[in-house]
Amino acid sequence: MRLTVLSPEAQPWRNRALHPFGVFRSLASSFLRADPGMAMDLLFRPGRDIFLIGTIQNRGKTIMGYKIVDLSQELYTGVPVWIGHPPTEVTVVATHEQTRTSGRFTENFSYTSEMISMCTHGTTHVDSISHIDPTPGAPSIEKIPLDWFYTEAICLNLTHVPPQTYYTVEMIKAALAKDGLEVKKGDTVLLYSGHYGRTFPTPAYLTDYSGLSLEAAEYLYGAGAVNIGQDAPSHDCALTTSYPAHQVCRRLQRLNTENLGDLSPVAGKRFRFIGFPLKIREGSGSPIRAVAVLEDDEP
Ligand SMILES: [Zn+2]
Repeated sequence: MRLTVLSPEAQPWRNRALHPFGVFRSLASSFLRADPGMAMDLLFRPGRDIFLIGTIQNRGKTIMGYKIVDLSQELYTGVPVWIGHPPTEVTVVATHEQTRTSGRFTENFSYTSEMISMCTHGTTHVDSISHIDPTPGAPSIEKIPLDWFYTEAICLNLTHVPPQTYYTVEMIKAALAKDGLEVKKGDTVLLYSGHYGRTFPTPAYLTDYSGLSLEAAEYLYGAGAVNIGQDAPSHDCALTTSYPAHQVCRRLQRLNTENLGDLSPVAGKRFRFIGFPLKIREGSGSPIRAVAVLEDDEP
């Protein structure tokens, strides 16, 4: 089965009269009544916005579907971290052999588990506003509304830009125009530089990345972006010491996401972005599993 999901473009999720659960259930039953060759495999996931995962197939061929793409880096001992952050370590604390022979369990029961030691800004993660805003009461990660992590999104293709460049407003506008994209209020905007694919996990991953200029960050956040993500260790260019893009986040109280993985599957597209943080009390950021949900238009 292919894992797929309805997009907000396909269904007016926020319109109660056309609630996707009801629309899809009636659609499903009419399809199945009309043609015994139709098959559906749906999983309904309730939440603030109910969404659906599944496929509609006609004699084995998917005729309506959406796919989930992983945009995250893997979390493992020694994964590259931003210079200045502590290393990430994943340590096995109980093996199957140890627990099976511990004398605590019967009938051959055993388990294994690990301990993770890492910075809250290690591997793929989102920065809270408190990360860069020292003002008392600046929102920490568990206080930021969840719908900021579950948004419509676009991904700008900036792979032609050389390493260690400050992205200009002109570069951003050209990337938007080239793929016919626009920033809408509430969007997450991902910047696909190709840096992850070119350098990860070599030392160059930590030194050669580009980032937004002050003006370009103002332009994107000013256009409505709530979160901007990069396939690089920082929201800012590797050369900076003043962190203009983070400074704009502080001033406008917006988010940024760092250390994303391969963004090529979403380059130049509009899709749904999901990247929920852990509920870390007074956390300045959190690892996330970043995914895109996009229309599956493959034949
Ligand atoms: Zn961070």
